Amino acid sequence: MQFSELGLSAELLRAIGEQGYTTPTPVQAQAIPHILAGRDLEALAQTGTGKTAAFVLPLLQRLSQASPSPLQKVGHSAPRVLVLVPTRELAAQVLASVRSYGAHTGLRALAVFGGVGINPQIQSLRRGIDILVATPGRLLDHLNQRTADLSQVQTLVLDEADRMFDMGFIRDIRRIIERLPKQRQNLMFSATFAAEVRELAHAVLQNPALVEVARRNAPAELVTHSVIKVDKEQKRDLLLHLFAAHGWHQVLVFCRTKHGSDALARRLEQAGIRTAALHGNKSQNARTRALADFKAGKLAALVATDIAARGLDIDSLPRVVNFELPNVPEDYVHRIGRTGRAGASGEALSLVSSDERIQLRDIERLLKREIASSVLPGFEPQHTHAVPRPSAGRPPAHKPALARNRSGGGARPGAPRPARAGGGGAKPAGHHSGQRHR
Ligand code: AMP
Repeated sequence: MQFSELGLSAELLRAIGEQGYTTPTPVQAQAIPHILAGRDLEALAQTGTGKTAAFVLPLLQRLSQASPSPLQKVGHSAPRVLVLVPTRELAAQVLASVRSYGAHTGLRALAVFGGVGINPQIQSLRRGIDILVATPGRLLDHLNQRTADLSQVQTLVLDEADRMFDMGFIRDIRRIIERLPKQRQNLMFSATFAAEVRELAHAVLQNPALVEVARRNAPAELVTHSVIKVDKEQKRDLLLHLFAAHGWHQVLVFCRTKHGSDALARRLEQAGIRTAALHGNKSQNARTRALADFKAGKLAALVATDIAARGLDIDSLPRVVNFELPNVPEDYVHRIGRTGRAGASGEALSLVSSDERIQLRDIERLLKREIASSVLPGFEPQHTHAVPRPSAGRPPAHKPALARNRSGGGARPGAPRPARAGGGGAKPAGHHSGQRHR
């Protein structure tokens, strides 16, 4: 399947070519014809599947082909497409996609979200736009101040609908929907079809086409998962060691708390690893700058909390490190969805201490597989990892092996002799010197 077979206009094909895309991803191939035909759509697609282009491209086409109203002719248009997203970062990313795919269409887009001044947004809204990308809270502020006019909206997109629920936006969304014209196209994208998402879909979508490109909670297939078992107090040193030994340059590191991410970011910086922290207490400017620097390869590490990292779109991110496992196993899937995107391979490495064994077990249950684990010489955990694992009692998958000495990176001075360990699962990428350990 080629993009040209989807019936997209020459302006859009040109922009797609400039992005370097050759073929549509499955969600694009399936969704674009329905959206072009004006149908409602319910799509089960995670970040990383190309879902943004799947709705942005056909909507740009429909907007460019619609005949302009008298007001639009003089440039004072109210938005005809409204895209609601859960986070500021996702709003900025969707806007960037709209602008790059729409570069040759002359259509105008704007993103409104909190954490930045409202006045520039008001001025842009006044000048007129075609596509509005918004987080619910800030859009409601605009509606309350009557600085946004939703009376011309022809298409509503609910992006990452499941995240909207997780973040408690459902009432805001319902209030926004009440302000939209009844007659409109509705598109909903979600990574899961949890009961509440289905309920919203039922209430909002009219006879929708269904598109499903990922199994529920199916992580990107091309991601290698691995675990290094280590004591909590040793995690920072182990992370520093991994950076030094492997020359890592673009790693997204997840922590559970804002405080923890700040502390870890400081420690990495002290060790000369260029790092920024990304979490909800940072100003929007700091968040935007951190993300831009990370994307541009100026930072070796971005330390983030789950909320802050939602919807991050970073092309071919090679590695995600879980410095701490998330409490909710689904967040593991969201975290690693940042790597192994659009066909690239990636590595998801988790540093797991004995107090996290329950989280690890829950994640393995969700993934329906065990994650290969290892211990690094010099970082052997002293606390027991004896875990009530789903596979307890199963014989090891292959013979015990002795750990090899690190070459290049060098074993830590004074590292204890490697212990024997049983093995199981796939070889963890990136830290080959660790012995197997279950
Ligand atoms: P999304 O799921 O929208 O967050 O997109 C994930 C990534 O895939 C983004 O970095 C896009 O630039 C990229 N992408 C989208 N469509 C294609 C395509 N047809 N071919 C290659 N990459 C794509």
